[in-house]
Amino acid sequence: MTLALNLGFPRIGERRELKKAVESYWKGETSQEDLLAAGKELRTKHWSLQKNAGIDYPPSNDFSFYDQMLDMSCLLGAVPARYNWSGETVDLDTYFAMARGRQQDGQDVIAMEMTKWFDTNYHYIVPELTKDQSFKISSSKIFDEHAEAKAAGVDTVPVIIGPVTYLSLAKASGAEFETTDLIDRLVPVYADILNRLHEQGALWVQIDEPCLCLDLSAAQKEAYTKAYVELSKLAPNTFISLATYFEGIRDNEALAFSLPVAAISVDLVRYPNQLDSCITKAKETGKGLRLGLVDGRNIWRNDLSASLEKLEKAIAALGADNVQVCSSCSLLHSPFTLENENTLDSELKSWMAFAVQKLDEIATLAKGANEGRDAIADKLADSDAAQASRKSSARIHNKAVQDRLAAATPEMAQRKSPFSTRAQIQREKLGLPAFPTTTIGSFPQTQEIRKARAAFKKGNLDENAYEQAMKDEIGRVVDYQHAVDLDVLVHGEPERNDMVEYFGEQLEGFTFSKLGWVQSYGSRCVKPPIIFGDISRPNAMTVKWAEYAQSLTKKKMKGMLTGPITILQWSFVRNDQPEELTAKQIAFAIRDEVVDLESAGIDIIQIDEAAIREGLPIRKEDWKDYLNWSVEAFRICASGVKDSTQIHTHMCYSEFNDMIEAIAAMDADVISIETSRSQMELLDAFERFQYPNEIGPGVYDIHSPRIPSTEEMTDLLEKAAKVIPVEQLWVNPDCGLKTRGWAEVEPALKNMVDAAKQVRQKLAS
Ligand code: GLN
Ligand code: ZN
Repeated sequence: MTLALNLGFPRIGERRELKKAVESYWKGETSQEDLLAAGKELRTKHWSLQKNAGIDYPPSNDFSFYDQMLDMSCLLGAVPARYNWSGETVDLDTYFAMARGRQQDGQDVIAMEMTKWFDTNYHYIVPELTKDQSFKISSSKIFDEHAEAKAAGVDTVPVIIGPVTYLSLAKASGAEFETTDLIDRLVPVYADILNRLHEQGALWVQIDEPCLCLDLSAAQKEAYTKAYVELSKLAPNTFISLATYFEGIRDNEALAFSLPVAAISVDLVRYPNQLDSCITKAKETGKGLRLGLVDGRNIWRNDLSASLEKLEKAIAALGADNVQVCSSCSLLHSPFTLENENTLDSELKSWMAFAVQKLDEIATLAKGANEGRDAIADKLADSDAAQASRKSSARIHNKAVQDRLAAATPEMAQRKSPFSTRAQIQREKLGLPAFPTTTIGSFPQTQEIRKARAAFKKGNLDENAYEQAMKDEIGRVVDYQHAVDLDVLVHGEPERNDMVEYFGEQLEGFTFSKLGWVQSYGSRCVKPPIIFGDISRPNAMTVKWAEYAQSLTKKKMKGMLTGPITILQWSFVRNDQPEELTAKQIAFAIRDEVVDLESAGIDIIQIDEAAIREGLPIRKEDWKDYLNWSVEAFRICASGVKDSTQIHTHMCYSEFNDMIEAIAAMDADVISIETSRSQMELLDAFERFQYPNEIGPGVYDIHSPRIPSTEEMTDLLEKAAKVIPVEQLWVNPDCGLKTRGWAEVEPALKNMVDAAKQVRQKLAS
């Protein structure tokens, strides 16, 4: 029989109950017992939801109060020394201290590092391991949750992060060493865990090894073989299913199927092409094959007929007992349920599936495989109808947009003259000093601004009053920038809730869910816009604010837009056409906005591409293609203007070494980047590659409440001037100021302007 399985469920809850429970515990409003009870309640509800939907063995230990990698560090007893851990079971307060740092009773312990989980918007806590790291079972969570489910009548498959993925994603602390070298010490603890689970009745364990989808080093490959051969000896009674996701296993296929595990799950949404070869390999090696057919990363309804065909093909080759159907990855990355989305119109809604609906899809596919198509005839008919309506709906397909793309010429992605010519013209027109100063766009988003925006949205503030409130704020921000003597001003973005949502709300082809939250990190959730159709711009989006702001000053006001890749990256994207095409559609919409800003007298326009780096594909061999189309999309936005209009872009990171050529190819006149925390890395990249255009390496770290001194910033600028010609340098913070308070921003920017004036005198005269 073909089983219906699920790799993980969103733990945050239907109405973000977990967020609320955890945050009130952090604030001291509730007790530890309250928090534990809230966790239990959510798990119980989620297990029974899955069971009732027809998932044969739901996962356990996919729940977490903060993050599953952090849970793994606690399970393995990998607690960095600075937390003064007793060495017994890791308690909840140590756990949260690792996640968030601890500042109390004169102690000041920093948090562990956090970084993005593969190419998702989820962030995990990076394990910190020392060269002589030891491991031992130090948390009972995985055992407790399995037992808890069992007591509730649900037989679950406990989930853990695999040893090689755990070590590969860890960072070496103290002396440099290869973290995968710790594999010999780690595997016996994994064996203990599996054996203990077995004793309490868990026959199967799901071991997540997403790193099997990466480009692996020889050392990692060796670690894989070693780990699983050893584990099969030390824990011979456990059936292991190895979960791979977010990419194809591609050239690691032979390795993956050589490992002594009982089953392997593969992501057929991200990499459908691996089905045939995986069937062959599963047959050769006698392993079970789990088909990840239901998308855990996006919100579109499954094409059940197409999925069933794949499932039937695998079953024909391997037999029903050796084939299971599952989600492509954990449903952690999907919003909870569509049921409460009563503001989405019914047509759009009929094309979507959130986590709860995905469970039903998985179970339906298994049922269809086991009992025949007739048994699910209604659901197949519904699914076919939804696919057909989505293919032909006028809501999605906009001929004007498609015609425009078809008529696009290469010249549209090309400024009129090369940078050297433009720079000359811009210098004359803009009349800026050397080391010009500017900011990245937003100013502090005060309570007052948020309140006004919320009231306007709710209908409690009329349009005029709202507009006046925003204008007042823009006025304040402009006055302040005059007072501190910045050279290129911004309007401060008070009218924007979010740099993507703001544009999505004004473009055709986007829609928004009410409760479509997904966990981003810890208790923080995001609600990405949904791109469902061809994208066009019915009206100008930012011109009126920019014009107003420019009217308040004789200095140059910088227009402020979000670029196509960032909009794409931070939304749920339609899956019925290549992302490249969607990016191009957005690019043309933004291009029109750029041209309109220019016509309205805005001479400097910034197009933020905060997310271009995080969109990089998981496999290096795919980078070139991605960088080609993403750079082209940016260039389409930027190339509708005259030579005299200065295009800026901004990126929120400084790891440029591996993509600086692509960034140069974007051909922005000026780029601002984050560097204040990692100055040395920037300098490396610029020593190797002469960046041709102008650049503002951020000198003020806005991620910290610290106020940088003038001297620190002159130091940074002087350092930068050693590798980047003085004529190319700008002076700016490393990101927008919206998360900071005025009390920090005012002195910090004053110091920054002073620093610019000093280096101007010293280096540019
Ligand atoms: N212009 C945006 C701001 O200043 C840029 C934000 C970002 O890069 N994340 O807020
Ligand atoms: Zn930024």
